Amino acid sequence: MTSLQAQDVVRRIARQVIVDGVTLTLRPGETVGLLGPNGSGKSTLLRLLAGVLAPTTGVVTLDGRPLPDVGRRATARRIATVEQHAHTQTELTVRDVVALGRIPHRRAWTPATAADTEAVTAALARTGLTDRADQSWHTLSGGERQRTQIARALAQEPRELLLDEPTNHLDIQHQLDLLDLVATLPVTTVIALHDLNLAAMYCDRLLVLREGRAVAEGTPADVLTPALIEQVYGVRAEVTDEPGHPVIRFLRRRY
Ligand code: ADP
Ligand code: MG
Repeated sequence: MTSLQAQDVVRRIARQVIVDGVTLTLRPGETVGLLGPNGSGKSTLLRLLAGVLAPTTGVVTLDGRPLPDVGRRATARRIATVEQHAHTQTELTVRDVVALGRIPHRRAWTPATAADTEAVTAALARTGLTDRADQSWHTLSGGERQRTQIARALAQEPRELLLDEPTNHLDIQHQLDLLDLVATLPVTTVIALHDLNLAAMYCDRLLVLREGRAVAEGTPADVLTPALIEQVYGVRAEVTDEPGHPVIRFLRRRY
């Protein structure tokens, strides 16, 4: 069994190249961190992997088949995404939003099955939202909204999960809870992150983008060197090897 693969994908808008020849092969069950400064193409690459955007050239395959051949509905049963800025109709409750994740599994004009209800209940529990299930979406805090979107993605019971900066708006406890959850799910995950230390702690592998190009790929220890951090982010850092993963300490520019 394979998973998602991007082969030399390019996304151009007008004359601008936003993703510039990226190749990424996901191994089933792994958690891949997508790093890179603002505007480096992370969100665009995630949309290409989800099949929401078509590559200008190159191909994205799921189990070896190009996404357009797999089809929208079958793709939606496999791949769940959480966008950077999720919008939802405000009249919905938390449970309603999470239930949206079941749409790809449901037949038209039929009521929710026991499996649908079970998946929604389990997703609410896993994200700590059971007590908020009947609360209306628009009354939630930013962090609770984020967790609701994660719960919607989990209710989808995907085999591939694409998360765009999912820890934004979350306090440190919920950031760690979320990444612990994601890292232990038996799901292939690509996760765009800004926090290099969280990426080092939770990702099996990292892909670093700069101006649309992949500039480094490998384990956190291979990738997160002071030289790479300086080249990509323009900041100075010290990296120490702690058991299991590197730890990055940023240096003040003047002291
Ligand atoms: P990141 O998620 O790493 O911040 P994005 O993938 O959102 O990067 O964007 C990469 C670059 O492509 C940015 O410069 C952004 O302005 C540009 N871009 C993304 N989508 C569009 C679009 N639809 N039209 C024009 N420019 C876009
Ligand atoms: Mg982005």
